[in-house]
Amino acid sequence: MTGQTAKIESRCDGCGGTLVRQVNQFIDCGQLWWDAEASCATCGDGWCEHPEAGRPPEAVRSALLAAHGPSRLRAVGPVPNLVPVLRVLREVWEMPLSQARELADELAHAGLAGTLTEMEFLHTRLRSRGVAAEVTSDAGPEGERIPS
Ligand SMILES: [Zn+2]
Repeated sequence: MTGQTAKIESRCDGCGGTLVRQVNQFIDCGQLWWDAEASCATCGDGWCEHPEAGRPPEAVRSALLAAHGPSRLRAVGPVPNLVPVLRVLREVWEMPLSQARELADELAHAGLAGTLTEMEFLHTRLRSRGVAAEVTSDAGPEGERIPS
C-alpha cells in the first residue's frame, strides 16, 4: 500500500496541551484516501477522522508536502492526445474541464506537482489508459528518481 503520513500540532481545546493530529494519505483498493487521528498526550482527548476518498483538505495536503516535499509527475515523451489525461484528472479530482486542461498541460510539459501518494495514484491511472509518465522527487535540481 502506497502512503504518506504527517503530523499537525495544535493547542488542545480541553487542557491547553499539545494536540497532535496525524494525517495519512494512501491508496487502497484502487482509490485515493485520506484519514486522520488526533490525540492529546496531556489529557488523552482525541478522535478519529474516518477515511474519505479523493483530494484531502488543504491543511492535510500542505502538512504532507511540508513533511515529505512535493513529487512531480511528468509525461514521458509527447502526449498526442490529451483526452485520456483529462479523463483521469477529472475522475481523480472531480474538477471542471478548464482546470483539468491546465493540469494536463503542466503534466505534458513542466510536470504536475503534488504529494507522492497523489502522483503515484495518477501515474497508475494514466498507465491504465496508455499514457506513459514518470514520478520524480522535487528534492534536487535534477530531481531524484523514485523507483516505482
Ligand atoms: Zn488535552
